[in-house]
Amino acid sequence: MAQWCETCDRSVEGSTCEVCGATLGDTPREPLPKKWVFFIAVTIIYLIYRIYQLITWLAH
Ligand SMILES: [Zn+2]
Repeated sequence: MAQWCETCDRSVEGSTCEVCGATLGDTPREPLPKKWVFFIAVTIIYLIYRIYQLITWLAH
């Protein structure tokens, strides 16, 4: 199934343009949104803090 490369303005056989290397398809993979990276980072820091609190509590 032929795809259309917007960058080169030409039809492309397959899912990758051999001229510019762009990946073509109906659902292009988007990178992880920055807000999710931030959310995951905050969650990990919070969990480390809770584990640290637990260890401190157990030490008593
Ligand atoms: Zn292209």
